[in-house]
Amino acid sequence: MKLIDLHMHTTHSDGTYLPRDLVRYAKEKGLACISVTEHDTMSSFEECADEARKSGIELVPGIEVSAQFEPGTLHILGFFLDRNHPKLKATLEEIQKARRERNPRIIEKLNRLGVAITLEEVGQVSGGKQVGRPHFAKVLVKKGIVKSMEEAFQKYLAKGKPAYIDKRRLSSGEAIQRIREAGGVASVAHPKQMKLGEAGLSKELARLVEEGLGGVEAYNSCQSREEAELYKRLAKRFNLFVTGGSDFHGANKPEVDLGYLG
Ligand code: AMP
Ligand code: ZN
Ligand code: FE
Ligand code: FE
Repeated sequence: MKLIDLHMHTTHSDGTYLPRDLVRYAKEKGLACISVTEHDTMSSFEECADEARKSGIELVPGIEVSAQFEPGTLHILGFFLDRNHPKLKATLEEIQKARRERNPRIIEKLNRLGVAITLEEVGQVSGGKQVGRPHFAKVLVKKGIVKSMEEAFQKYLAKGKPAYIDKRRLSSGEAIQRIREAGGVASVAHPKQMKLGEAGLSKELARLVEEGLGGVEAYNSCQSREEAELYKRLAKRFNLFVTGGSDFHGANKPEVDLGYLG
């Protein structure tokens, strides 16, 4: 049996494994094929590809793009896409720039709440790569301001909490288009996080299929086996392919191991 895991993160987004360490760990876990799906960037691809070659493991180029959505979260996975496609590249650079502008604003909010942390401290825990809210959370834990990452989100960083600032997101149509123009296929990540019932999800999937969606991530560590069955049924209804991944983040999500599907 070939083991495949098509959803994971490194230090280039909000995971804690370095790209090469992640690929080596995947090899150790006996995985035959992986996709490293960073949030809104493909910056770890070259290192991962080099290590995958050395380890003799198949690497599918991948990404996880955040899209605009209410009430829950909509992430679109892209697979087999060309990271050098000019339009994709320009869009990802623009999103990175927006993140760099967002970070000091989160610091400002925290400081105003009497939480004394600096952007430098956040940069240090992110390892100089893309900075996201989990890195702010980590600094808050490290400095003893909160006891856990979860508390950092619940008190300050989660949507609607006092230090929350939204990030620049593509519309779902834009995300899917960018992926497809770059030669890739798009799969909706962890549909559970869209926070819709079956009827609502069915309606959303119909819309996303119109926009060019090709697949659905039925298997993800946040989804139960029963939920996976529902997503597989919906996939069949809309003629979508099914993908699966652990959404491994290393120590930033310690309950989820590589290859783990819930
Ligand atoms: P960002 O892209 O900077 O908005 O950060 C998003 C990341 O923060 C997600 O990928 C999660 O890993 C993490 N995250 C978001 N909400 C929570 C939460 N309530 N508790 C823990 N982690 C969260
Ligand atoms: Zn993440
Ligand atoms: Fe996600
Ligand atoms: Fe993810």
